[in-house]
Amino acid sequence: RRAVWWLRRDLRLDDNPALLAAADEGPVLALFVLDDALRSPSGPVRLAFLYRCLRDLDERLSGRLCVRAGRPDEVVPAVAREVGADVVHIAADHGPYGRDRDDRVARALAADGRELRRTGSAYAVAPGRVTSSEGTSYRVFTPFYRAWKEHGWRAPAAGAADPDWLDPRSLPGSGAAIPADPDLEGTRLPAAGEAAARERLRAFLRDSLAGYARHRDEPAAEVTSRLSPYLKWGCVHPRTVLHELHQAVTATSDGRGGSRGESGGGSESPGDLSGAAEKFRSEVAWREFYADVLAAHPSSARSDFSDTLATMAHEPPGDAFEAWKRGRTGYPVVDAGMRQLLAEGWVHNRIRMIEASFVCKDLHVHWTHGARWYLERLVDGDLASNNHGWQWTAGTGTDAAPYFRVFNPVSQGRRFDPEGEYIRRWVPELRGLPAGEVHEPWKRPGGPPDGYPLPVVDHAAERREALDRYEQARKSG
Ligand code: FAD
Repeated sequence: RRAVWWLRRDLRLDDNPALLAAADEGPVLALFVLDDALRSPSGPVRLAFLYRCLRDLDERLSGRLCVRAGRPDEVVPAVAREVGADVVHIAADHGPYGRDRDDRVARALAADGRELRRTGSAYAVAPGRVTSSEGTSYRVFTPFYRAWKEHGWRAPAAGAADPDWLDPRSLPGSGAAIPADPDLEGTRLPAAGEAAARERLRAFLRDSLAGYARHRDEPAAEVTSRLSPYLKWGCVHPRTVLHELHQAVTATSDGRGGSRGESGGGSESPGDLSGAAEKFRSEVAWREFYADVLAAHPSSARSDFSDTLATMAHEPPGDAFEAWKRGRTGYPVVDAGMRQLLAEGWVHNRIRMIEASFVCKDLHVHWTHGARWYLERLVDGDLASNNHGWQWTAGTGTDAAPYFRVFNPVSQGRRFDPEGEYIRRWVPELRGLPAGEVHEPWKRPGGPPDGYPLPVVDHAAERREALDRYEQARKSG
């Protein structure tokens, strides 16, 4: 019996339960559908990374990745028919669009006497699995994290599936080429694909894990894993990441390498990791939490999760917002982050929080505008993590940081980039300034260096304004 393996956000051959399920049936056709919905909100950077991952996969399959363009509910049944496959295998998608799309495809396949079978997901613990004692989804991270750890996750499947791959060139329907990279406007991307993801993970565990807990908030230190684009497209599964993390810690604590996951089965629920590994694991869990929240509350991707600030007054995005997008606000740490975004399609987490606070509380612009720009430019752009990350700062999300906590871009810069190393890396106009001046260049006797703007807003005044608006919203809410 032949099977179709339809890939979406699981662009890897290793530890891929949906692929293993397809391979169990017999020869497999690997299918990727160029769905128009991919183009929005993905901007050029994320699309180029996706196309590069697809090219990498196609090479590993010796040119046997079947790429088709069109609506999935038309393309997938047509390909299944051409192949003569009764079952199309996928990893479950829990996002609002993905769930609808898959339901439509399942109905179209069923009308043709075929089945869409879901095995696994893009998460160590699939959204919806971890619930409170009342059976409801969690709205706050800490109890979710506790329950998530207790739930545990499968050890990764050993090795890559190696089925008899069907050649798409033998099918009657016409395939599409993997598109050429869109214009990246100068953004540099990380190496794409499964091998690059595994190399990144290895390098992180070897070189940076030890300093992660201590230095992860320092943007200049570069100790975070930078796994986010690979997790986004499933070049590596979080279960593999958690497993390798556990192995790395076990290897250092017992001096001989890990043993737990090597049995290849059972539950892996480690409780003895060092502080750094625990911190890293909790960050991976934030990704799982936000996916869980999105699955339970699909509208939270587009509108406020909590309605406590529903009557808050906002400004339309104007010139200052445009200056923010281009990294020209006059606040060095804010500008450094936005220029990193334009240059790399990635921004350090601490800086993402500073950026979001600046948009929501210094510019009084609704979080959805900032979130949209981020989604357009980020290589790791992910609806659940991005839009809930923005809402966390805006004060409308889960665990909402209290609205009255307004990040001061100067003191945040001084605290997390004391020498100004990160700022100088991304803002060439400020490269000549010493640490004492780099966070407030407008205070220098002659003003900021040539070419660098004065602040577009006065933070102290805007902070007061934000708090006034908050009070008004609370009174009328
Ligand atoms: P590491 O510190 O090495 O963490 C490992 C992994 O854990 C990350 O790859 C990521 O998958 C997950 N993770 C870490 N921190 C978070 C977090 N706060 N929330 C959710 N998952 C987390 N992450 C995205 O993957 N895509 C986004 O579009 C995105 N947008 C964000 C927008 C805002 C306003 C904020 C505040 C955060 C956003 N994040 C997003 C979360 C976080 O900033 C990134 O995941 C992280 O910076 C990626 O770098 P890293 O892989 O080196 O992280």
